Amino acid sequence: MTAKANIAVIGTGGTIAGQGEAAVNTSAYACSVLGIDAILDTIPQARALANLRAEQLLQIGSENFDNTHLLAIGRRLSSLLAQDDVDGAVVTHGTDTIEETAYFLHLTLKSAKPVVVVGSMRPPSALSSDAALNLYDAIAVAAHPSSRGLGTLVVANDEIHTARDVVKSNSFKLEAFRSPYGMLGYVIEGQPRYYRSPARAHTLATPWSIDTLSTLPKVDIVYAYGALDRGAVEAIAAGAQGLIYAGTGNGNIAGHLLEPLRDAARRGVRVVRATRTGNGIVLRNGAQPDDEYGWLTVDDQIPPKARILLALALTQSSDARVLQAIFERY
Ligand code: GLU
Repeated sequence: MTAKANIAVIGTGGTIAGQGEAAVNTSAYACSVLGIDAILDTIPQARALANLRAEQLLQIGSENFDNTHLLAIGRRLSSLLAQDDVDGAVVTHGTDTIEETAYFLHLTLKSAKPVVVVGSMRPPSALSSDAALNLYDAIAVAAHPSSRGLGTLVVANDEIHTARDVVKSNSFKLEAFRSPYGMLGYVIEGQPRYYRSPARAHTLATPWSIDTLSTLPKVDIVYAYGALDRGAVEAIAAGAQGLIYAGTGNGNIAGHLLEPLRDAARRGVRVVRATRTGNGIVLRNGAQPDDEYGWLTVDDQIPPKARILLALALTQSSDARVLQAIFERY
């Protein structure tokens, strides 16, 4: 019999740490109130999967997370994963921004040990809560040798997703997490089963290390609509080093906004065309002449993930060609 894996479990808050007044409160409840030990006490079965070492790092809803929270979670994980007696880690997290934190960790942690970010759509107090099983599954995935080298994973609703692709795509259903190219695998009765692996570079194969990052450049997102006003775009561009423009369709931009965005690029703001559609590639020099205007395009990254990637990319270079290649690689 092989020894049980040692898994670090870091609590950061969210619905998985929530508490409703009544069991029927599946959507109205207080978030981030239960400590990580109390959550783990609801799944004594997890002790059969792994030796658990729990700690409370944060206790806040993930809608509040800024770059400092991402850096803090990454640094703590890095120091835990460097320890010989830690085989993997689980982070409990609000679901609202789980895809951003997970992608950030996927790009900056320098370890092949499994890291699983997990949340729930219903608090532990609700009817048919997904909290206990999601956390049990996350521990099972983190403890399993087949999860090594896959980067950061998100586990929810019996599914294992790669951090690069997963998106919260429903505001209240249990079936909220989707990856546009499909999940990596299932978890069933404490056993992960993988059917594919991430194609894009991550963790050990990226130029970013959480251990040397102290701040992230300011990158903002503008969400497009026909009546979007020039002043709003100028105000956001004025304070940013990078700007993700969540354009209509294939990253398209209304005529009256071309000049403020061209002007931002001339002033050195890195303008990246993305799409508000939620899926698909934005083709360089397709809907707009990016070469002529000095703009970049995402590959298929949704705007919040593009924000993370551009912020990291800007710690390496401000060269447009280098930045464009980064969007196509990660
Ligand atoms: N406020 C919660 C958060 O931390 C709500 C979402 C959830 O955890 O399901 O993101």
